[in-house]
Amino acid sequence: MVKGFTHARLACGCRITFREGVEGSPVTVVVEEKSPACLVSQHVRDLPLFDYREALRPSTRVGPPEEGEFEEES
Ligand SMILES: [Zn+2]
Repeated sequence: MVKGFTHARLACGCRITFREGVEGSPVTVVVEEKSPACLVSQHVRDLPLFDYREALRPSTRVGPPEEGEFEEES
């Protein structure tokens, strides 16, 4: 079970809550309150979200490491 926080608000205004996951997924994220301003059709109240990582924070795992991008001269 997730400890520390149980709710989060997405950039679109929707509020989500975390629940104990099922079927191998450690956490299930459910839209608790649909924002009137939300334009994301996937955000439906009481419907689980499965792309919670992308929803909660900018991805840090996409793309290769920027090796060689900056050359250090010493
Ligand atoms: Zn939304």
